[in-house]
Amino acid sequence: MAIETWRSATKGEDLLFLLASSFRRQDVLGPENFRPSIDYSRSVALSGFFAGAFLLNVFARSLRVGDEVVRRFGDSSETQLAREMRFELLSKLDLAESDLKDGAMGRIGDAVIAAVYASDRPISNGLRKLVKEEFPKPQCYACGKALGWRASAGLPVVSLDHVWPAAWGGDSVLENLLPACSDCNTSRNDLIGWQWVSAQALVGEHDSGSFLERLPRQYKNSIHLRAVVAYACSARVTLKDAAILIGPVLLEPQKIDERDTTDFFNLVAHDIDRYDPSWSRE
Ligand SMILES: [Zn+2]
Repeated sequence: MAIETWRSATKGEDLLFLLASSFRRQDVLGPENFRPSIDYSRSVALSGFFAGAFLLNVFARSLRVGDEVVRRFGDSSETQLAREMRFELLSKLDLAESDLKDGAMGRIGDAVIAAVYASDRPISNGLRKLVKEEFPKPQCYACGKALGWRASAGLPVVSLDHVWPAAWGGDSVLENLLPACSDCNTSRNDLIGWQWVSAQALVGEHDSGSFLERLPRQYKNSIHLRAVVAYACSARVTLKDAAILIGPVLLEPQKIDERDTTDFFNLVAHDIDRYDPSWSRE
């Protein structure tokens, strides 16, 4: 069964998509639930949130188990590493092989190994040069601040951010790197999906103004990421291309529907004049 995804640029994303399509019970992770579109009805938005949170939980646990197995058996033969990975994933993820489609566990194990090794690859000087050619006048993709490639330019110096975080199997490849300021790079803190925050807990006050001013950065980033993912899925582009098209995070998110509750699902954190979230309305 096909699941709506964006165009993957990294081993980590490949693993996520593989997990999403490997469960037998598609009522949990079926396309209807996984689709990360911006939908203004609370029930659809919430079911998408729970399906995504479940998937990210399995994904993050798989990689943590994978780190440990590669550390212990990385020097063994490929066959033994693959066998140990499969065994440890099954025993530590609380999954039964019958939860998954035939042969899926072996493919997941191989994808975990590839993602763990991808996490470890540094950004080479050659690669940095390619990003520099792509962005001769760099801006932070997250906050929009003007940046310089060298300290002498009188601007904050570019730090390259892995759009899909390196810690989660994000390869150091051109399709996964964007210029960022060091504050945003640090504060992003390995956010991999908008479901990473407790979106259901964010419900505002009647005075939405002061609530929005005090909104913690992780919520703004998550709301922004939800839009990036939704755009990437609908246009079948990479997260990097979607982030460039949508533009930086707004300092203060805006309500979509003024008359409705100020909660996670009623907020946008990017400039809707650039890309209106209605792109994903059906
Ligand atoms: Zn920034």
